[in-house]
Amino acid sequence: MNKYIFLMMMITAIASCKPGNTSQNGNSALLVSKAESDKVVSGLVAKYGEKAKFRAERGVSQVASFWTDKDGTVEDFNKFCADNFIATEGGLDTLALKISQYSEVLSGNFNKMRLDLNLTLDLNNGPITTIDNMFGSYDASAHLTEDFFENKTAFYVVLNFPAYTLKEKEEQGANWSRRQWAMARIGDMYSSRVPSQLLLKKAEVLTAAGSYISDYNILMGNLVNDKNQTFFPKDMKLISHWNLRDELKSNYVGAQGLEKQRMIYEVMKRIVTQEIPKEVINNDKVQWNPFSNKVFASGTEKTSPAEPNTRYEHLLKNFKAERDLDAYNPLYPTYIQRAFDGGMEMSQQEVEKLFTDFVSSPVVKQVAALISKRLGRPLEPFDIWYDGFKARSAISGDVLDKKVNGLYPSKDAFEAGLPKVLQTLGFTPEKSKYLCDKIRVDGARGSGHAAGAQMKGDKARLRTRIGEGGMNYKGYNIAIHEFGHNVEQTLSLYDVDDFMLNGVPNTAFTEALAFIFQKRDLEILGMKETNPDKEHLMALDNFWACYEIMGVSLVDMAVWKWMYENPQANAEDLKNQVVKISKEVWNKYYAGVLGPKDQPLLGIYSHMISYPLYLSAYPVGHLIDFQIEEKIRDKKFADEVMRMYTQGRITPKAWMKAAVGNEISINPIMEATKKALEVIK
Ligand SMILES: [Zn+2]
Repeated sequence: MNKYIFLMMMITAIASCKPGNTSQNGNSALLVSKAESDKVVSGLVAKYGEKAKFRAERGVSQVASFWTDKDGTVEDFNKFCADNFIATEGGLDTLALKISQYSEVLSGNFNKMRLDLNLTLDLNNGPITTIDNMFGSYDASAHLTEDFFENKTAFYVVLNFPAYTLKEKEEQGANWSRRQWAMARIGDMYSSRVPSQLLLKKAEVLTAAGSYISDYNILMGNLVNDKNQTFFPKDMKLISHWNLRDELKSNYVGAQGLEKQRMIYEVMKRIVTQEIPKEVINNDKVQWNPFSNKVFASGTEKTSPAEPNTRYEHLLKNFKAERDLDAYNPLYPTYIQRAFDGGMEMSQQEVEKLFTDFVSSPVVKQVAALISKRLGRPLEPFDIWYDGFKARSAISGDVLDKKVNGLYPSKDAFEAGLPKVLQTLGFTPEKSKYLCDKIRVDGARGSGHAAGAQMKGDKARLRTRIGEGGMNYKGYNIAIHEFGHNVEQTLSLYDVDDFMLNGVPNTAFTEALAFIFQKRDLEILGMKETNPDKEHLMALDNFWACYEIMGVSLVDMAVWKWMYENPQANAEDLKNQVVKISKEVWNKYYAGVLGPKDQPLLGIYSHMISYPLYLSAYPVGHLIDFQIEEKIRDKKFADEVMRMYTQGRITPKAWMKAAVGNEISINPIMEATKKALEVIK
């Protein structure tokens, strides 16, 4: 620990005493001084003129920021830059095109290899054996970046293609040609050179956090209240927090629902505060009263120590593993920047602003009043998971199952029917065939997923679960969601003009199209929804889901900021801070709407521990979904989808501006909710 802090201080000192040098690589063997790389830049500018200055400056400093004694001497560095800098526009164009083509070969084949090695794990292909897990977990591309630094390919790329920050992409991107955008994506390829042992360490702590989370169960039949009553079945074992939350949601109907919900809520609070007795986790040998926090064995109270902050040990380890990577990421030297500016390509501040605007909107109180009226009681904190806006179709489940089953008795029938699905949505027969020829249907082991291709010539995979007796409505509804992903994946690979731009800005964009398809599932079946409230209920349901997850995400972000400000904190400090932040966010946006102040509830999400800073992707997806729906309402669905989803991976802002005319905004979902409030009473 001390050695680590010392190392970090050294790096910071080196970086800060050399202003203007972007070299922040943490490798102690970094070789090239600022003066040395300036000399190389001057040489290039003298040779190629002022026009080459920006690229020479940034390219050379990028090479310097990664060059170590392993890569050669300072003279080797000088020669490498002088020999390999491409100055002509034509030369650069050709180079970009070739890199794009080779990248497609690599990512396409690695992706195909990964999918093929996972066939038994992913598909309904018989029992999984040890060898399936061994091949399935093998990552053939794990050493690719390292190899490309070693054989100088990565240096060649970073010398010639500047990496742009998110801010630069947003400011300059509007004036970039498609070729310039593709070049900017080439510039993103090698923004870090992290030693493989640090990547391994990161994978290790993530896996450990994942295992901790996935094996954290509460034995519900062993919970008692102050009157020693139990409410849950003896064998009910629920994983935190997903199953606990879902059980809580399911108790809006049925006997003793409210008592069960209050009990689950007490359990959740004890987990966040780590007051939960360690021995009640995964253990059916003791009874536990989560209200009094007392533990009983064979009816007798016993002392039982609390969980020793294990939850926060994992979070802290994740933080430290990420922080170890900071020094090797000159462009985004914190994990917060890597997750937001780098991953989502939205700044953390921008996401936070969207969320705080949303959760502080007066519409929240109106929806809360409606929920309170529907429940016939004042709201309590756990009503953040109110589940009564589920839009049930006016068409009975049997009718739907029969219809789906008749159309799709088998996987092959479903695959054969896909072009028809697209035609129903307004795609021409030619375009429908063109897209569906590139999508294959597989029988999934789980409930289904969509795996896109990464090179032209390969197919996207629609994984769906079809039982012996053919497809049912539930399976069909999920399959249409996955099909939406496949259509996005195919359009954004085959119909985007440069491979470097294939895809969408971030995962929220593919989720949006998947939901847009899924919502049209009845229309595709040729059935008409006769429940006039369905659309409004869906709006309210989405609104309330956003209100919940935005709060959790605000806590997640604030916790990461605090960890960066307090890198020396231990697990106890971190726990206290998570509880404090959870209460602060609660008091600001939730207290009064959902009961009393000082509730630590927003710290309960498991993603916070095992998927750091991922939570915000969900509500952003909902916002985008509503914006796109609003835009296409009176337009031709297929034309609009093709127009939007062939833009490729530019920034979210640029994508949305071109797609709907605005940046990402909370307004459409607010408007839809207000409209719903007029109808649903
Ligand atoms: Zn999805």
